[in-house]
Amino acid sequence: MGYSDRITGLAGGGAAWDVFFRAQRMAAAGEELTMLTIGEPDIGTAPAILDAMHKAAEAGNTGYASIPGIAHLRETVARRVAARTGVETAPENVMITPGGQPALFATHALALDPGQTGLYLDPFYSTYPGTIRGVGGVPVAVATRAEDGFLPRAADLAAAIAAHDAKSLLINSPNNPTGVVYPEATLAEIAGVVREAGIWLISDEVYDTQIWDGSHVSPRSLPGMAERTLVIGSLSKSHAMTGSRVGWVIGPDEAIAHLGNLAIHTTFGVPGYIQEAAAFALTQGPEFEAELAAPFRRRREAALRLIGAQNILRHAPAQGAMYLLLDIRATGLSGQDFAERLLDAERIAVMPGESFGQAAAGHVRVAMTVADDLFEDALARLIAFAGELAA
Ligand code: PMP
Repeated sequence: MGYSDRITGLAGGGAAWDVFFRAQRMAAAGEELTMLTIGEPDIGTAPAILDAMHKAAEAGNTGYASIPGIAHLRETVARRVAARTGVETAPENVMITPGGQPALFATHALALDPGQTGLYLDPFYSTYPGTIRGVGGVPVAVATRAEDGFLPRAADLAAAIAAHDAKSLLINSPNNPTGVVYPEATLAEIAGVVREAGIWLISDEVYDTQIWDGSHVSPRSLPGMAERTLVIGSLSKSHAMTGSRVGWVIGPDEAIAHLGNLAIHTTFGVPGYIQEAAAFALTQGPEFEAELAAPFRRRREAALRLIGAQNILRHAPAQGAMYLLLDIRATGLSGQDFAERLLDAERIAVMPGESFGQAAAGHVRVAMTVADDLFEDALARLIAFAGELAA
């Protein structure tokens, strides 16, 4: 008996993940570490949302729930998307999923037949290539460059589509790991290339409530894009609901019907009490969402002050999401070596840029997911450590 290539191809983080696993083992063994690694909000789900969840379960929402999503939640998401983007959006354009990750998997299953190429941009959120392999597709990365602020070049995208006969392009703004928010002009260029090639654009927008600088534009709102864009949404970050596993895909109604069919054969939907809690959470309003984003906004401002006061480290445009991508090349180390040595010397765990692709080599990603005072202290020590290495 063997294992399918689809399954064995899922993993494959590479050596740059070693430092993360080592930090996890150290923390589990009781060592005191400052973990600036994964993108988990450092607060739990709000009591009012948990209360809504509990009440929904008690009211009997414990059976099989509607598979594309309960009507009430699909309507809520459709109204939210229409209000935020100006694009007409009906419940039939909304598929409720168990979070953003299954939505990434489902949209690639929709777009790619086995052996077909799905493009994604480097640096990238770690699951992207495995997700494409997982549906039998062939992941091909298109590199972005630090000197371009990690924005893709339209000519590179067009060349990669042509070279690989790609059927989809996956983008992510606000971006993990860079923190970059794509300006409308970049999105318009991407849209132009995708329209010209007649392929799907898969737009991962799970950080769309975490914007520190500029504004979020959903490419689905650009001319001719609603019919070829599949938007990934999630309540994980916006509502501190990582463990509830609830998110969505927005797309043309025909695409959504196919995704419903996929869900019948995979997840069989999302628990009804979770969906009710999600609908409640989404109607708490923009102030509530701003409150959840506020700690990251504060920490990012503190970080920019600290980084601005020295000249060894540089940072990628820190415009959104809960991460900072720091350029540590002035230390002469790779991101991986820097992260290993920082862990040993300072007991601070960060992610090597190389965990997110070669385009982020010589960088480290710092998640702003610990309390303000701990965060500022850790970042000050990281900066001092980089200064010693560079000296
Ligand atoms: N996309 C990006 C860019 C992410 O960073 C994450 C989680 N870290 C996800 C998707 C998936 O999140 P979830 O499945 O919790 O919605």
